[in-house]
Amino acid sequence: MSQAARTAALYARFSSSKQREASIDDQLRACREWCRREGVAVVAEYADYAISGRTDERPQFQEMIANAGESDIVLVYMMDRFSRDPYDAPLYKHELAKSGVRLVSAMEAIPESPEGIIYEKLLEGLAACESRKTSVRVRRGMEGNAIKCLTNGVRVYGYRTGEDGRYEVVPEEAAFVKEAFRRRIGGEACNSIARDFAERGVVTSTGRPCGYTMVYQMLHNEKYLGKYSWGGITFEGGMPRIIDDGQYGRAQKVKGKKQRRNESWGTFALANKVMCARCGRNMPGVSGRGRCSVKYEYYGCTSCRMKAVRRDWLEGQIVGRIRELLGDHEEALRIARIVVEAGNDKAVELDRRQAQASLRSAETGLQNILNAIEQGIIAPGAKERIAQLEAQRDRARRDLDTLDEKTIDPEDFARFLMFGATLTDKAVLEAFVYQAKVDEESVLVTLNYDTQKNEPVRLDIPRVRTELQWC
Ligand SMILES: [Zn+2]
Repeated sequence: MSQAARTAALYARFSSSKQREASIDDQLRACREWCRREGVAVVAEYADYAISGRTDERPQFQEMIANAGESDIVLVYMMDRFSRDPYDAPLYKHELAKSGVRLVSAMEAIPESPEGIIYEKLLEGLAACESRKTSVRVRRGMEGNAIKCLTNGVRVYGYRTGEDGRYEVVPEEAAFVKEAFRRRIGGEACNSIARDFAERGVVTSTGRPCGYTMVYQMLHNEKYLGKYSWGGITFEGGMPRIIDDGQYGRAQKVKGKKQRRNESWGTFALANKVMCARCGRNMPGVSGRGRCSVKYEYYGCTSCRMKAVRRDWLEGQIVGRIRELLGDHEEALRIARIVVEAGNDKAVELDRRQAQASLRSAETGLQNILNAIEQGIIAPGAKERIAQLEAQRDRARRDLDTLDEKTIDPEDFARFLMFGATLTDKAVLEAFVYQAKVDEESVLVTLNYDTQKNEPVRLDIPRVRTELQWC
């Protein structure tokens, strides 16, 4: 999928022929939830309460097809909602495609360029990984940079890397940051702010439309107070401030119902990723003390009677299966190639181009002064100018060296995936899991990367038969 979808038309169908089929409401809710997560705006909703999947009994389906082109995608709960008829489905898919519309399933789709997520989540662990030949050297260099409050290539929305390598404010982005704080203090939900920002073209550092996570992180980022931090090194006032202390504090105190629930999910590595297959709702993490005051933690559906799943079991199973995959050199290398290609150079390449331009302009400037001197022209202040340009040239060369070391070799990345001591269970889950769909019998886990056939990798984990015992 090349172009990120911005708008969606939802289609739901209820046949009542199957027991425990997701209701129209549940289907639409799951679709809306998907759109919220992906930062896609819903422009239309269609629903048929048909007995069968036959087209002539589906007036809303017909209308949706007739309106094709009103949205980038048509989103269904599962592909079988679109059509059960093996001849109809390709026919109507083609009909949509003619208007440039893709058919996407909320429960079966993974996001656009998910490899970027793996890269983002693992970058820090990778930088700290000792198996990397150059990591010690790089780290030392980056620590040196941190002492000078240089960006180290870390992007923060609202800032860019300035001429001196430190953070400087991007006024258009800072305006969005300020707006987010203002609206949050006014009591608006992060989701609603995110939706609006996405519509107005705000994107993450990896180019995805603004979503809940971006706004949430924005509202909790102390860098906007001017607090520079990198790898445990912090400096108050080490970067320009965008938000004042009072506003920041007030925004932290706003706790909508949704917000409070989300905060309690904070420590659950699969927060927002566990979904109930029966009703399509999120299964939030829950913890407490049971009989014998033994602490229990599980992911549970709050809307239907789906059997809750123990957190340690679920997370342990998934991590085990992913580590098994990563333990295979071929597979690790394949993932590394996908990820490195997707993520490596977007940030690094931009910095490299900046450094190269800076180096060229310094060298040209020096040459011009030397030419002038050779012709006997000695301009006032030439000595200072030469010193300035030489400093600029040396800095650009140093930056280019650092950037070369930062470019990631897929073999190194694969080794890191296989043996990286800094690859924690939490990082594995956050980086690789897109969604875990839980039903009574099994857990279907969709991972954040594709196989060669453009299909997301899925793990099917059978659930244990025994009753849950907390103590
Ligand atoms: Zn449920």
